[in-house]
Amino acid sequence: MDELTIIGGGLAGSEAAWQAAQLGVQVKLYEMRPVKSTDAHVSGNFAELVCSNSLGSSLRNRPSGLLKEECSLLKSLLVACAEESAIPAGDALAVDRESFALKVTQRIESHPNISTIRLEVTEIPNGPVIIASGPLTSDGLVSSIRQMTGARRLFFYDALAPIVSASTIDMSIAFRASRYKYETDPHGDYINCPFTEDQYFAFQNALKSAQRIPLKEYEIDVINGVQVNQPAFFEACLPVEVMAARDPLVLTFGPMRPVGLRNPNDAQRPFAVVQLRQDDLADTLYNLVGFQTNLLHSEQARVFRLIPGLDNAEFVRFGQMHRNTYINSPDLLDSTLQTRTRADLFFAGQIVGIEGYIGNIASGLLAGINAARFIKGQSPVPFPTDTMIGSLHHYVANANAERFQPMKANMGLLPPLEIMRRNKQEKGYIHAKRALNSLQNFIETILN
Ligand SMILES: Cc1cc2nc3c(=O)[nH]c(=O)nc-3n(C[C@H](O)[C@H](O)[C@H](O)COP(=O)(O)OP(=O)(O)OC[C@H]3O[C@@H](n4cnc5c(N)ncnc54)[C@H](O)[C@@H]3O)c2cc1C
Repeated sequence: MDELTIIGGGLAGSEAAWQAAQLGVQVKLYEMRPVKSTDAHVSGNFAELVCSNSLGSSLRNRPSGLLKEECSLLKSLLVACAEESAIPAGDALAVDRESFALKVTQRIESHPNISTIRLEVTEIPNGPVIIASGPLTSDGLVSSIRQMTGARRLFFYDALAPIVSASTIDMSIAFRASRYKYETDPHGDYINCPFTEDQYFAFQNALKSAQRIPLKEYEIDVINGVQVNQPAFFEACLPVEVMAARDPLVLTFGPMRPVGLRNPNDAQRPFAVVQLRQDDLADTLYNLVGFQTNLLHSEQARVFRLIPGLDNAEFVRFGQMHRNTYINSPDLLDSTLQTRTRADLFFAGQIVGIEGYIGNIASGLLAGINAARFIKGQSPVPFPTDTMIGSLHHYVANANAERFQPMKANMGLLPPLEIMRRNKQEKGYIHAKRALNSLQNFIETILN
């Protein structure tokens, strides 16, 4: 039986390796770290989370909660390791990132069917392959992928959020609460920094006029031959300073929305709020939720200390902008993640145009199962489109190729319900019930 080569030991590659190995296939997993690192990773561990430590909602009536439950049904290694490394985060599944990556690394390295090789791959190899090299795929491999896909451009830009030391947050101003639970759970999981209207506009002004890190020549977008001095950002992950400059109030509907929160110091809903989420098991670090940024580090220190409660904050990591490599999947892939031109070549993870940690775990899972089926002489199978995992992969394979942008799990991808429901929560539960039944049936009748 052929061996499976997997390029990239991130979220997708690690899950793919596990799934294929569990199905009896011999796997060679190539990971270039720690020999060669990326601009965002800091360790040589598999499945390192580079920014937020949250895998999203755990509620099954929410998209990421449903996807997590589907991955658990499919015996996901990474979801199991995440649950074992969980730290408090309200209804979300947040993890101690180091403990999570170590658990995945130990399980992968000790699997008898997996051999791990620490090496940068620069050419797409022959034989069954899954490319799961992520948003920061090394330049050598990007060239090889470009040759194969014929695409002129394979990337655009994302940004990541800063982290502060918990002991330097002024808790006489900031307060603990989880959104919508200020009455039932006064010791909520998030730290909230409340703004008055004046404070908010002063902050928004400082943010929009703060100095940004100058763009490198290749980062500047050219539209119709005209340099627009702006990189192509992913609209769902815009830097806060870009949002602040678009409209004075836009942040109050986005990362600074105050809904569902009351300041216990005056019992009022603040005008705006910055939320901070626990980042490590020891509870010493907190990240600024939704505060991806590309400001100069000195400007981040100056402007973010205008946030009430953070005037003396110590920044243990500043935000930064990063490249996001992805292929034009609707042109190249089937929803099995198999390429249309080479049956033994699969792609998985962020490079396919899937957003979100849990989405990328799911993508590795689907590619691992299908590549193993291919090697064992069975046909790769699309997953049912009334499940979150199936609908997400159906989307990336069938979206409009002209304006394809990466996609996150969301309920809008699922087929409409037969019976209309107005209540969003109730609708979510009905979608979830249908998806989990359908997946269970698929596992029993097709996968087993
Ligand atoms: C700076 C930054 C911040 C992010 N923040 C978030 C966030 O907050 N929330 C979120 O959901 N998503 C975030 N993302 C996206 C996140 O990367 C993905 O959700 C997830 O990690 C993608 O999984 P993946 O397996 O596709 O890629 P990765 O997890 O990045 O794994 C790819 C692996 O391939 C390796 N590799 C690359 N090229 C080669 C090569 N040529 N040979 C061998 N190995 C190679 C890399 O070292 C890496 O380990 C962020 C990404 C970046 C870069």
